[in-house]
Amino acid sequence: MCNESAISEYQRVRKEILEVGLITINPHAAGMIEIVPALYAPSYKRIYIKDDVFNKHWRHLKKSIAIGIENNPEYCSERGIEKPEDIVDLRVLHSYSREPYITNHGKIEYKARKQEQPKKTESKRARQSKLDNPKNIYFYSSNRDGSRQIHDKECEVLDSIPDEKFMGSSEVPDGYILCRKCKRKLLIRMGCYPNTKQIPTCAGFFQKYRVSTAELERMVYMGITFHAEDMSVMTVNGIEDNWQIRASGDGVSLWHNNYVKLSDTERYITDGFHEQKCNGNMTYMLHYIEGYTWEKHLEGEERKKVKAEEEARTIAHEEERRTHWYYRFIDRVKRFFGRK
Ligand SMILES: [Zn+2]
Repeated sequence: MCNESAISEYQRVRKEILEVGLITINPHAAGMIEIVPALYAPSYKRIYIKDDVFNKHWRHLKKSIAIGIENNPEYCSERGIEKPEDIVDLRVLHSYSREPYITNHGKIEYKARKQEQPKKTESKRARQSKLDNPKNIYFYSSNRDGSRQIHDKECEVLDSIPDEKFMGSSEVPDGYILCRKCKRKLLIRMGCYPNTKQIPTCAGFFQKYRVSTAELERMVYMGITFHAEDMSVMTVNGIEDNWQIRASGDGVSLWHNNYVKLSDTERYITDGFHEQKCNGNMTYMLHYIEGYTWEKHLEGEERKKVKAEEEARTIAHEEERRTHWYYRFIDRVKRFFGRK
């Protein structure tokens, strides 16, 4: 059934197409017989009826077809034809935006296709699920020809990335750099992962004690993480040790995890913290933490020990010399008094 110009199939069949008339019974028509104009394509064994003609005649055509089905049950059941509508193929009228159907009154009408809409909602849903996935920290556009920046999930630049290109990842994709607009927030998210609820407190802590974004970047890339439940203390997990930076007056104080020495070179970390002598601002303390390893600490201890031993030897030597001299003097005195 079709409007011939509207269908591509018509171009294919037009050379062999024949104008025909379908004879149907209409009790209201003169002589009860009605001719329905149609086109026939012999090699496809298909009949084409224009949609306006179809709308006009379908009710009577339908009755004739029903009689045909009734008289040819075997033929019809083999081909899955149970009712007159089963031989109507509306596919040629399908389009991207609308879908044809036959109404109860035997007319072809169209409903808007909802395909485009669901597609859009689907990619929107996919975007949201990427945003909601707690493993995803970095968000970016899959368009590698663009600026190749990764963003924090709250960065406003994300609004300009279309749903289809929207990507989320737990790792920094190759060749991407941190967006300048959201860098600080993203670094804090990275540093206190997975405790995302602590982001505002950590951000407040770094802000209050003036830690720069460059410093944050340095420590995060060294693998140092941090956590803060409130503004009184931030726990910093350094390379090997754990530290606390505690609010103290207007400034901060540095606290180092307690440990028990097992031998000259071995130790194990225990509960609690002791204050580390480290006077300076928070950035200075972070540098201290970045530079601290147990090995370096031992090297420092060793240097101190060696220095102490050297000093002790010098003292001992002088001591010995003095002693020597002292005894010699005593001996001389004793001799002088003739007591020996
Ligand atoms: Zn950004």
